[in-house]
Amino acid sequence: MGGGEGRARVISGLNFNPKIAYFSMEIFVDPDIHTYSGGLGMLAGDTMRTFADLNIPVVAVTLLSEKGYLRQRIVEDRQVEEEDEFDPSEKMLLIAKEIMLNIRGEDVKVRPWCYFVKGTSGYSLPVIFLDTNVKGNSDWARELTSYLYGGDPDYRLAQEIVLGIGGFRILKELNFSSIYRFHMNEGHASFLTLELYRKTRNIDFVRRQCVFTTHTPVKAGHDSFSIKKVEEFLGYSIPEDILPYVTDNGNLNMTKLGMFFSHYINGVAKKHKETSSMLFPHYSIDSITNGVHSLTWVSEPFKRLFDRYMPGWRQDPYILRSASGIPSNEVWHAHMEAKKMLIDYINNNFGKGFSHDLFTIGFARRMTAYKRPYLLFYDEDRLREIARSVNGLQIVYSGKAHPKDEEGKRIIERVIRAGRRLEPDVRFIFIPNYDFRIAKLMVSGVDLWLNTPRIPMEASGTSGMKAAHNGVPQLSTLDGWWKEGYIEGVTGWAIGEEDQESDDQRDSRDLYDKLEYRILPIFYKFRERWIEIMKNCIALNASFFNTQRMVEQYVLNAYFL
Ligand SMILES: *Cc1c(COP(=O)(O)O)cnc(C)c1O
Repeated sequence: MGGGEGRARVISGLNFNPKIAYFSMEIFVDPDIHTYSGGLGMLAGDTMRTFADLNIPVVAVTLLSEKGYLRQRIVEDRQVEEEDEFDPSEKMLLIAKEIMLNIRGEDVKVRPWCYFVKGTSGYSLPVIFLDTNVKGNSDWARELTSYLYGGDPDYRLAQEIVLGIGGFRILKELNFSSIYRFHMNEGHASFLTLELYRKTRNIDFVRRQCVFTTHTPVKAGHDSFSIKKVEEFLGYSIPEDILPYVTDNGNLNMTKLGMFFSHYINGVAKKHKETSSMLFPHYSIDSITNGVHSLTWVSEPFKRLFDRYMPGWRQDPYILRSASGIPSNEVWHAHMEAKKMLIDYINNNFGKGFSHDLFTIGFARRMTAYKRPYLLFYDEDRLREIARSVNGLQIVYSGKAHPKDEEGKRIIERVIRAGRRLEPDVRFIFIPNYDFRIAKLMVSGVDLWLNTPRIPMEASGTSGMKAAHNGVPQLSTLDGWWKEGYIEGVTGWAIGEEDQESDDQRDSRDLYDKLEYRILPIFYKFRERWIEIMKNCIALNASFFNTQRMVEQYVLNAYFL
């Protein structure tokens, strides 16, 4: 028996005619479905929700990942990982179809589960979750769709074959014959291009149909596999004529494969387009800056406020432009309500004595070296002095490290220990197991959102956009989207200068200076001005850095030739 099979509701097929197929290794559709690890999956989910809002006929394809990414516990200041399984039969339908793959000479059956993403007007779109945990498959094959980003390189290669080739064949099996664009969200699904190419041997035919989005600004972040291994797994040779364009020193580069066969390629922020163009000089790379799904990320108190003063924002987030007209005291009340939800969550769950009134800084994302989660703690004495000067500071952290990222795990330990040393001047909490629910509480419940990536490692970043939707300004290095979104003292503040080489000592000094001389004085002494900044975040940034604007750009620039 496969996972959840016994209780599954089964349907025979889908009566739907998608025009676009959106492939992503991870996608967040529901808090109880743990098929995401972070930014990439959130973006994919926000994108699908927006396609549904706009009645754009899209089908998404991803892996089931029924044991999830990881559930994080903190034991003696260290991350401990557990499986984060879920039961697909609770919220998905099993489609009574099956396709066959051959991986490494072995037959592998793949079956589709379906989850419907509903838009604001009720239009719903299918997300297909590929499952190899099927009777008749070998133990090895049954595990292929168990773990998101787990296992060794062979496991990863087999997963990418399931996603790209299995996904492509499932769409055929579902009779989705009207698909004319395949959008690869990162290189994990690039094998689908080989399916298109092998049949026709016509590069232009494939390119017309494919769109590629890259998310990674560093070379090491792009998957590659030895050609020999790929051919052994696929059971056929990569066509000779394309080999020179898709390989690096004998390895198949999944990004190059996807890019080679796409008529449109984009990075996820203007700055990321420049970085990617340097990494892949032979391609013309455009940029479509990421966004977030407004209705998903606006907290309940702000939803009520927006409904009252900006009706229609749910269908059309550009309306958030007029946020400047909301009375300041109501913006403040909505914020205090959202802040109370976060502070109460912290006090109730972790026995902390956080205050509703003290200035509160939030930092949450994947814990990894380039994001420099320790930067705020770089000079503990300075931070303690700042905290004392305002009678206390509150800091909320959360985030998982990838199981193989030992440095990321050490950073978690380092941050937790620094936080403890700073008590009681600084009240500190590291909330374990960062996920959608904690993200939503945090981006709306803190007073300031902090981001400290080492330039140019952050392709876009999206959590600051979620904060902006809740009137929470950001303090960040000028990387990713922040280069486009910041106006100093108007929508938030910058750490360091544009295009400057990142340096921990200099950047931390700048961070402390901004906190001490610009941010805290406005928050405590010029509350009216602070609330103006909050409104600017909504009017200037939420109205633009949303997936509605982003999807419209994809439709106009990428999907239609
Ligand atoms: C938004 C989000 C992320 C991505 O945050 P970044 O700032 O873009 O790194 C990661 N995890 C969760 C749970 C999120 O909601």
